Amino acid sequence: MYSRRFQYVRAQSLGDACDMLRRHGDGAKVIAGGQSLLPMVNVGLVTPEVVVDISRVPEARGLARDDGFVVIGALNTHRELMTSELLQADQPLIPAAASHIGNDRVRNRGTLGGSLAHSDPAGELPLVMTAISAMYEVTDGSSTREVKAEEFATSFLTTQLEPDEVVVAARVPVLGPGWGWSFCEMSRRKGDFAVVAAAALVRSAGGALVEARLALGGVADHPVRLGAVEAALAGATYDEIGPRVGAIEGIRPLSDTNASGEYRRHLSRVLAVRALEEAYRRSEEVE
Ligand code: FAD
Repeated sequence: MYSRRFQYVRAQSLGDACDMLRRHGDGAKVIAGGQSLLPMVNVGLVTPEVVVDISRVPEARGLARDDGFVVIGALNTHRELMTSELLQADQPLIPAAASHIGNDRVRNRGTLGGSLAHSDPAGELPLVMTAISAMYEVTDGSSTREVKAEEFATSFLTTQLEPDEVVVAARVPVLGPGWGWSFCEMSRRKGDFAVVAAAALVRSAGGALVEARLALGGVADHPVRLGAVEAALAGATYDEIGPRVGAIEGIRPLSDTNASGEYRRHLSRVLAVRALEEAYRRSEEVE
């Protein structure tokens, strides 16, 4: 299928990109790595009149520590996230998640900002950003605002982004002492989107779980934090994790060609317990 023709323009800066988005209104779309946008254009799911290429702008790059956080530019590719020594030390959940995305070609071209803005409900990066309570820096070229990761997605493939805004960076907390982490997913083939994915962070002390963070992808129209499960885990020993996770109430996964809702519910529990137990083991290694 051949996509409709569109006008291609290359932005010289993020401000330039936002001006072009404003000028062309709803008919314009940003392109970064093109790994989601172009497949959707090719099948006619999106039909932009103008595509604004931000891949060469000088901003939104880099990866640096800033006062207990790591600031990750939106144009970092998945490959750069996977191989970043800073992230492997400060927030290893992100490299671990990025290694599950697509294949080499996709990881070499796809970007953090593209993944967050595309907002696939099973996307690994939106999921881990939700689990670690990242903040996104978003700009319209003249002002910048911060958006909480767990509030960014508003519905399926839809975010809070205004038509003239772009994602500049994600600000993630450095993983503190005593914390362990785990990312696990089930996909039909390696590199496919996850059927269900789980991201867990656990802080333990003296053989008991002090604090847990748990998020699931693939079970709703955006990643979900499981606050009730996190609360139930307080004080749990390793062996009590499974029983305290329970049946994971409150999620209503949909059925599709990949899996039934019922199988997704089952998978959610299996992966949640697996991720929490692995994170717990890791937390005891670092104590
Ligand atoms: P683009 O395709 O350039 O853009 C995607 C969307 O985001 C567009 O709407 C665009 O307008 C917008 N956008 C891009 N950058 C910005 C920005 N900085 N600010 C605002 N809006 C922006 N994804 C997964 O999560 N997991 C997978 O397993 C996975 N497997 C894949 C397998 C294949 C074969 C392919 C082709 C894709 C796969 N993807 C997967 C999807 C894709 O890799 C990601 O969504 C990708 O990270 C998108 O990044 P990009 O830079 O290519 O975005």
